[in-house]
Amino acid sequence: MDKAKSILKSTFGYDSFRPLQKEIIENILNKNDSLVVMPTGGGKSLCYQIPALIFDGLTVVISPLISLMKDQVEQLRQAGVEAALLNSSLSPAEYAINIQNVKNNKAKLLYLAPESLVKDDIGNLLSKVKLDCITVDEAHCISEWGHDFRKDYRQLGTFRSKFPSAVCIALTATATPRVQTDIIKNLNMRSPQKFIASFNRENLFIRVIPKRNPFEQTVNFLDEHKNQSGIIYCFSRKQVDTLHESLSRLGFSTKPYHAGLSDEERNTNQDLFIKDEVQIIIATIAFGMGINKSNVRFVLHHDLPKNIESYYQEIGRSGRDGLRSDCLLLFSYSDIAKINYFIDQKEDDKERLSAQMHLDAMVKYAEAEVCRRIPLINYFGEKYNIDNCGICDNCLTDGKEIIDITIPAQKFLSAVKRTGEIFGANYIIDVLLGAESDKIFGNRHQNLSVYGIGKEFDKKQWHLLARQFLNKDLILRDIEFGSLKLTQKAYDVLLRNSKVYGWLKVKEPAAAKLKPAERTYDESLFELLRTKRKLIAEQKNIPPYVIFSDKSLIEMAVYYPTDKESFLKINGVGNRKYESYGMIFLPLIKNYCAKNNINTPRPTAISAGTTRNGQKRRFMLVSEAYNNGESIDRLATKHNVTQQTIINNLARYTNLGNKIRTDGLFNLITLPKEHHQKVFEVFKTEGVQKLSVIYQKFNEKISYTDLQLLKMIYLCDQKK
Ligand code: ADP
Ligand code: MG
Ligand code: ZN
Repeated sequence: MDKAKSILKSTFGYDSFRPLQKEIIENILNKNDSLVVMPTGGGKSLCYQIPALIFDGLTVVISPLISLMKDQVEQLRQAGVEAALLNSSLSPAEYAINIQNVKNNKAKLLYLAPESLVKDDIGNLLSKVKLDCITVDEAHCISEWGHDFRKDYRQLGTFRSKFPSAVCIALTATATPRVQTDIIKNLNMRSPQKFIASFNRENLFIRVIPKRNPFEQTVNFLDEHKNQSGIIYCFSRKQVDTLHESLSRLGFSTKPYHAGLSDEERNTNQDLFIKDEVQIIIATIAFGMGINKSNVRFVLHHDLPKNIESYYQEIGRSGRDGLRSDCLLLFSYSDIAKINYFIDQKEDDKERLSAQMHLDAMVKYAEAEVCRRIPLINYFGEKYNIDNCGICDNCLTDGKEIIDITIPAQKFLSAVKRTGEIFGANYIIDVLLGAESDKIFGNRHQNLSVYGIGKEFDKKQWHLLARQFLNKDLILRDIEFGSLKLTQKAYDVLLRNSKVYGWLKVKEPAAAKLKPAERTYDESLFELLRTKRKLIAEQKNIPPYVIFSDKSLIEMAVYYPTDKESFLKINGVGNRKYESYGMIFLPLIKNYCAKNNINTPRPTAISAGTTRNGQKRRFMLVSEAYNNGESIDRLATKHNVTQQTIINNLARYTNLGNKIRTDGLFNLITLPKEHHQKVFEVFKTEGVQKLSVIYQKFNEKISYTDLQLLKMIYLCDQKK
């Protein structure tokens, strides 16, 4: 493992492993079969690339797309790792060289498409070398239950069985248990260990806003992302073309991508995007599968996606480099109707039902009032326990204006009851609005007391309310017929025993807070470095991010490295990259510093309270201000966040071993003082690490916030 760690730094230029990478690499090195489930951008490649460099023999990597393979091989070459690729896109001469490199063990990794495995020359080659590891990337392609089944993947099981002494590692970003079981079975994996990483991508800033004037909203969003790469997803080809036309007329650098274009046009446009020649791709869902571009800074959903899986995968294409990326969804009810129209066309009942359920989940997500990460991460079967992620719209604003909606609830529920619990929401709303339809007259429902009692809201508002009643379990919808039925909870509301709270309006979020983070690096130096990178990329005909990631350039524009030692400290700079590019970039930085009177070297140590680009994190600033006498209340107002967010900030500060003054905390605790000691005793025996467990232990009778506050007091007392 020491070797793995040193390769991580010397070859790839990274200081530490991402979650699970270390465990997976260890398992592979011990020749245990492994299944890895990690979200897009999670860092799956290193899990087999590092072992490949340690094994004596060869690692074969099966991957479905030629473009992905080429990209990977190029990235490895830039890091100084010899890797080979065998497919039909190579010239006979290149093909022969690659075979030779594998034969004489010069290339430790060989990338192959699944259909190549049955070719004679490849079978022949593999029988002559020692095969240590078989890697199957995008392994969900083997399962008919995945979203991207490929027949050629089916023969991988037989292939794997031919090499019993090789270890097998399968990697995917698809999390369903069914697909996982399929992968293990079809690959004949031997007592594999599963590694399932968290699906939370902390660097994605997630927002959903009502779609009002989509073009204007799009332009505003793009204006916030000047000079950055991004993807806009649309529902239809026509929408893609229209948007492309209007945006390019305004001077935005865009290209379209959809199934209506020729293969050639699509490839060209994708290539321009990857090489940073074009900044924005406007696409239907067809775009993104084959790209590894690490510096996609934003994803805009111009229209509602059909399901959460696609949505999550699409936003996941941004921020692979770990830097903050903005994901915005424009949400409108007419989009739901559009998708429903297509769903209704489906002949197969099961298919229709499943599509309907997927769409329902998507809408529920878009309407969520809680942290966006809760419904998102829960959807993938993972528990998300943090109340406030600090990087989604709902956590940054108070969001929806919550009001008492008991009266409309009572109206709606009695209309459901009076009409016999056999109608869907559309009909109920027609009754409430006093519509003069044949269906209503046929049922004589114009005579009901609920007829026409809901005219204070329009149809759209009633639909919004109805969905909230569903979400709050006041009504159930029959999946097959769509009819609504009352629940016990509904009767409590009708009998005036309980109230209902919900929303009709979205508060306008404080604009400043939702703006992209301030850039705290030296922007002119960054531009200089970026231009240089682009120039080299053009000469070598490779994507710029393969040379250095944006993250690497940003760190250079913060720390101003001017010698070998400090250059190697930059994220993503390994020995080979220093050798290839140090002589080009170092003089550039030195010159810049001299011209601008910047003193070097700068310290490059990165502490927990500082962001990668040297900025003090907000929780540090907040906590220091608090210690200097600011009250929690005032801090909340000042930063335009809730009191809870400030408390979370303070908690984070104390978790790092810092002390805060405790006098300001006691008056926030609702638990009577005589009970505090009991909590402290539990802290003493159980430790304070797992607050959620302690919360359960008290049967949730003590509020989580109280526990948080008491924990801080406890920690600070111990330090005395
Ligand atoms: P995946 O295949 O899971 O989608 P990749 O393997 O392509 O993800 O990795 C995504 C990005 O993260 C790449 O740019 C990669 O260089 C970077 N990365 C991977 N591991 C680390 C690490 N330990 N530290 C820093 N960056 C990493
Ligand atoms: Mg990958
Ligand atoms: Zn959140």
